[in-house]
Amino acid sequence: EVIVRFPPSPTGYLHIGGARTAIFNWLYAKKHNGKFILRIEDTDVERSTKESVEGILDGLKWLGLDWDEGPYFQSDFQEEHIETAKRLLNEGKAYKCFCTKEELERKRKQALQEKRSIGYDGTCRNLTEAEIREKEAMGLPYVIRFKVPKRSGRIGYDDQVLGRIEKDYSEIEDFVIVRSNGRPLYLLCNVVDDIRDGITHIIRGQDHMANTIRQILIYEALGKQPPVFAHMPLTLDPKKRKISKRTHGEVVSVQFYREKGFLPWALVNFLVLLGWHTPDNREIFSREELIEAFSLEGISKANSVFNFNPEDKEKQKKFFTDPKALSINAHYLRTIPVEELAEYVERELRNEGLWDESYAGDRREWFLGTIDLIRSRFHTLKDFVGAGRAYFSDEFEIDEKAWKKNIVKHPELKELLPELAQKLKTLEQWTLESTEEVVRDFCESKGVKPGIIINGIRTLITGQLKGPGIFDCMVAIGKDKVIERLESIEN
Ligand code: GLU
Repeated sequence: EVIVRFPPSPTGYLHIGGARTAIFNWLYAKKHNGKFILRIEDTDVERSTKESVEGILDGLKWLGLDWDEGPYFQSDFQEEHIETAKRLLNEGKAYKCFCTKEELERKRKQALQEKRSIGYDGTCRNLTEAEIREKEAMGLPYVIRFKVPKRSGRIGYDDQVLGRIEKDYSEIEDFVIVRSNGRPLYLLCNVVDDIRDGITHIIRGQDHMANTIRQILIYEALGKQPPVFAHMPLTLDPKKRKISKRTHGEVVSVQFYREKGFLPWALVNFLVLLGWHTPDNREIFSREELIEAFSLEGISKANSVFNFNPEDKEKQKKFFTDPKALSINAHYLRTIPVEELAEYVERELRNEGLWDESYAGDRREWFLGTIDLIRSRFHTLKDFVGAGRAYFSDEFEIDEKAWKKNIVKHPELKELLPELAQKLKTLEQWTLESTEEVVRDFCESKGVKPGIIINGIRTLITGQLKGPGIFDCMVAIGKDKVIERLESIEN
C-alpha cells in the first residue's frame, strides 16, 4: 500500500516549488492506487495564517490535485507531539538540557576551531537524577534533546533518487526536539504525524535532507520502520538561486500563473518536467498518460532551472515565464475540446465585462467557432481579451506595428477601404466565399495587390498584425462590424 502526503507550512501562498512537490506525491499515489494526504503544518503559530491555508487549498484544487484525506492540521495533534517527547524522555532516549545560550555558543565556537562537526558536546546527557531535580528546582529553563545512540559505524537509507545516503553516528549531534517554551520542533512533529498517518513514502525536496537522518533516528527510537525517502532536486532561477517566495515574490506563486491565463493542467505538465523526465524526454502528457508514465526513477538528481526572467521587465511583458511553460500552455490552449476551453474563456470575458449571455444561448455556435478560430496563435487565456479582443468588443487597440506597416505606409487605403466597404454592403450572404469574391474582384479592378488590401483589412478589423485567414476573420466578426471598421479609416 502507498500512502503519501503533502505537508505545506501555511506561511504564504502556494508556490511552484510546493506545487511540484504536491504533484509528485499525488502522481505517486495515483499510480499505485494509494492515498494522498494533505496535512497543514501549522505549528509555527506566529507565521501561519488562515489566508495562507485558504490559498494553498485553493491552489491545489485549481491544479486538480485532489486529496484523499485531510486537510489535517498539525496543531490539532500537539498533545500527541508532547506525549511522544515525554515518552522518549522516560525511556531514556532523550534528555533535558539546561545549557544556556552562552554556553552553547561557546561550545559551538570551540568545535569550529577544533574542526569537529558536532557543536554540542553532550554536557547534560549524563546528568544524574539528583542534578536534574536540583536544576529544575532552581527553575532553570531546559530544552529536550534527542540522545543519538553511541554506536560505531554509519546510519543511512536508500534514497529513491540519490541512492545510498549515510552518516557516521559520531557525526550526529544530540538535536533538540522540544524548545524551552515546551513546544516540540518540526523535526519531531513531522515524524509523529507521518507515523499516525501511516505514510509509506516521503517525497520532498533535497532541502530537507539535513533532517532525514535525524528523523530516521526518531523512527527507530519509537520502534517504527521509517518510510521510503525520495529527495527531489531543487528548482533554481536562471541565476542558480533556489526559488523561494522570499527572493522572488509573486511571480513564483501558482496564483500568478492562474492570473496570467494558464490552464491548470498545462502548469501541472510543465512543473512535473522540472526535475522529472521519461527516457524519451516526452513533453506532453494527459492526466492518464502522466499517471501511467510517472515513476520515482525518472526524478533527476541534478537541480533544474526555471527560466523565468525574474529581472528582465521587458522580456517579462512578452515572456513573463519560462518559454517552455508558455509553449506547453499554448499546446493545451490550442488542443483541448472547444467546449472545455469555452468555460475558461467565459471567465476571462466576464472579468473584462465582455461576456454576452447570447454566447451561451443563440450565439453559442458562433462563440465556439470563433474561439476555435482565434486560439491557434494564442499562448494564454489572456490573449482572448488581449489580441482577441476585437472579436468580442468594439473597443480594442490597434497594434502600433500593424498600423505603421499596413495603414500608414499605404495612404491609398484611405480611399480604397471605404469603397470596398460599399461593395461589401451589397452582399446578402456573408460567407467565406462571398467575401473572398468581393475582395478579390475589387483588387483586380483597382489593380492593387491583394496583400495590401488584406493586411489593411486585418489591421482595421482585428487590430492585429497577424491572425487566422482574413475571410475567416471577416465572417467571425460579422458584416456590420467589418463595414464599420473599414469605414473608420476615414477619421
Ligand atoms: N512543512 C514542511 C515544508 O513545508 C514539510 C517538509 C516535509 O515534507 O517533511 O517544507
